Amino acid sequence: MAEPTPSPTPKIIKNDPWYGSYAARAETMRASEIRALFAVASRPEVVSLAGGMPYLDYMPFKEIAELIDKMMVEKGDIAWQYGLAQGDPHLREDVLQIMRLENITDVQPDDVVITNGSQNALDLITRIMCDPGDVVLAEAPNYVGALGVFQSFQVDVVNVLLDKDGLIPESFEEAVIEQRKLGKKVKFLYTVPNFHNPAGVTMSVERRPKILQIAQKYHVLIIEDNPYGLLGFDGQTYPALRSMDDENVVYLSSFSKIIAPGMRIAWMVAPPGIRQKLVLANEASVLCPPNMSQFTITTYLDNFDWRQQINQYRGMYRDRCNAMDAALREYLPYCTWNKPKGGFYIWLKIPQGLDSRAMLPRAVTAKVAYVAGTGFYMNGEGRDHMRLSFCYPTPERIHEGIRRLSTVIDNELET
Ligand code: PMP
Repeated sequence: MAEPTPSPTPKIIKNDPWYGSYAARAETMRASEIRALFAVASRPEVVSLAGGMPYLDYMPFKEIAELIDKMMVEKGDIAWQYGLAQGDPHLREDVLQIMRLENITDVQPDDVVITNGSQNALDLITRIMCDPGDVVLAEAPNYVGALGVFQSFQVDVVNVLLDKDGLIPESFEEAVIEQRKLGKKVKFLYTVPNFHNPAGVTMSVERRPKILQIAQKYHVLIIEDNPYGLLGFDGQTYPALRSMDDENVVYLSSFSKIIAPGMRIAWMVAPPGIRQKLVLANEASVLCPPNMSQFTITTYLDNFDWRQQINQYRGMYRDRCNAMDAALREYLPYCTWNKPKGGFYIWLKIPQGLDSRAMLPRAVTAKVAYVAGTGFYMNGEGRDHMRLSFCYPTPERIHEGIRRLSTVIDNELET
């Protein structure tokens, strides 16, 4: 157990002449454990169960390229030009049909803001809502990229508990009351209701109105981050929180997992006052989301059967999830996990006393990578868990990856 563990703190640049000049917020930034793993995990001999990369090989790239060629001939002068800070109106219209699949039916194109991925949306919402020391309530474990944003704005992240039915309403209410007693400003609750990253769980339909009632009672905004909602393995969808409340919810979704992340295009829906600030913040941050990417997405949506494409993804991820679940039952029956009903991730609890972070270098030596549970908490918790992604490797590779992982865990248990 004495081997060094990968550090989430970036290497200190020796003799940096600017040392001491950085803003306090830069001092609190840390590298994500996932990014730190990226280089090792992408070596071909390593089975990576680490990243959340969608598998894109089934995309009709040749046909897409032909349509993009045509689009460039017809409107290249606009595609390569600056655009609107709120995003392309055609795309803002197109996303309405996607949201209808989750019962969001009352949104107009003017309610939508296009962003450079949901990561950018998280940055913008935190930027307009939070001062240093303000409180954000977030599920624990939590999406690592959101933690990175909250940390860079020097926000205090307070944990709200999750179980197999998602966020626990009582835990949300208790956290609000407790933080208010401490004199803290609770700026919002951040939640990933569907096929959670990393926990794999989904907020039950019964809990959704309860959570909204608490938000309304205490006037706490909810940030509903929903990149995986259409990836239910049986085609099932759940009513978005935003579909039940248009005043207290900012809804985020993204093309990253349902089409492709390379375009860096996502969208959000917010009540008018918040939306106005978000557009100003978008303008200050990036001037406008890229027209080229937005036009590529609208070209795709207008010409391909995107619902069918999402169905194909669902089937593929279901097979991969089944493969991982079966391999875990075969090789690691003494670990515990909830089998997800959609999305990309299994959150694995390892036997007591083992440390997923300390074990990682040994896993990489055994040519398998995962993300240690500690990456999903701010406070060093999570050593007894790891996140396993089944989205990218084939079922055969997943089987082999879990076999390799079991040799590492078995070794740890013997020492
Ligand atoms: N939220 C969650 C829960 C995610 O899992 C991710 C990506 N892994 C994002 C936001 C960011 O997605 P995007 O590619 O749209 O920036």
